[in-house]
Amino acid sequence: MIGKASGAGKAAIMSRRPRIAVIGTGGTFAMQARHRFDWVEYSESGVILGIDHLLTTMGELAPHIDIVPIGFRALGSTGIVPADWLALSLLITSTIDQDPSLDGIVITHGTATLEETAWFLDLTLALDIPVIVTGAQRPANTEGSDACVNLRAALAAACAPALRGLGVLVVMDNVVLPARDATKVSSFELAAFEAPGFGPLARIDAQGQVALRRLPVRPAGRLPITDLAGVASLPRVDVVLSYAGADRIVIDALVAAGTRGIISAGLPPGRAGNGGRAALVDAVARGVIVVQSTRAARGTVPMQRFLSVDGILAGGDLSPQKLRIVLMLALTRASDPDVVQQMLLAY
Ligand code: GLU
Repeated sequence: MIGKASGAGKAAIMSRRPRIAVIGTGGTFAMQARHRFDWVEYSESGVILGIDHLLTTMGELAPHIDIVPIGFRALGSTGIVPADWLALSLLITSTIDQDPSLDGIVITHGTATLEETAWFLDLTLALDIPVIVTGAQRPANTEGSDACVNLRAALAAACAPALRGLGVLVVMDNVVLPARDATKVSSFELAAFEAPGFGPLARIDAQGQVALRRLPVRPAGRLPITDLAGVASLPRVDVVLSYAGADRIVIDALVAAGTRGIISAGLPPGRAGNGGRAALVDAVARGVIVVQSTRAARGTVPMQRFLSVDGILAGGDLSPQKLRIVLMLALTRASDPDVVQQMLLAY
């Protein structure tokens, strides 16, 4: 799948201006602040610009690139829901089908759920061109905003032949992270995203040059859960956080609400608190798929006896919120716990 940019194809790309689609979804990136230092409560303005309008306010960002703006949503990413992921993935696929000359895709997104959207797209898109998700920590009309800086870096990444075939990537603060591991680690710092334990794939310098230092590990070939054909909606899957003294009330309520899966974000190294464990076992008995994860930033939960005796699956090293997305997709294809277990650890 990486071959599109090699040999004659690469020469053809280099001999014309790159064309990059910029899909706007809203977020801090698109929010208008009320004053220069409105870095915290800027959403109080109630103004979120569409990507067309926003790009005109940003001036000449990258004159050597043909930017194709595509409006998708204009909302804070706290409002992004799984139906938006399905629609966005299909939009990207149809955009490429209709305009095969595009060299890359940039998605601008609020930072709150950016890592979840990026991971869903990584699992469901089959593209060899770069797909870059970026955002901002400060609105574009505030002092020291990272909005233009991040978009410029994302455009550079979207044009970079070295980043083709690497799946969906997150670009923030001039760092390139794989969607699988990228997570927001800071509320207000501009260096908001990291890949804990693994570090960035690449850095983007002041001239927009991409220095690739390592490759992400990707499953060989397409796996069944990545195919959205026939998937009209995603099943309900919830995350339950363990903490000292947590009881079973939340777990029982989720089972009563009809959840199909529960990710137990356990106490490191990856155990539910005593107060919730029996409720998880009861959930399994009611047909809910329960997966043990850990709330540790660099955690992993291998398959082990104390889980298998309770019928609970092992979550591996994905964060609880990323694991939830894999389980949602897995449940569109399978319900047998052994099959679901294999799918969870395949990614
Ligand atoms: N950073 C948020 C987002 O992900 C927006 C901030 C807010 O809603 O206050 O869109």
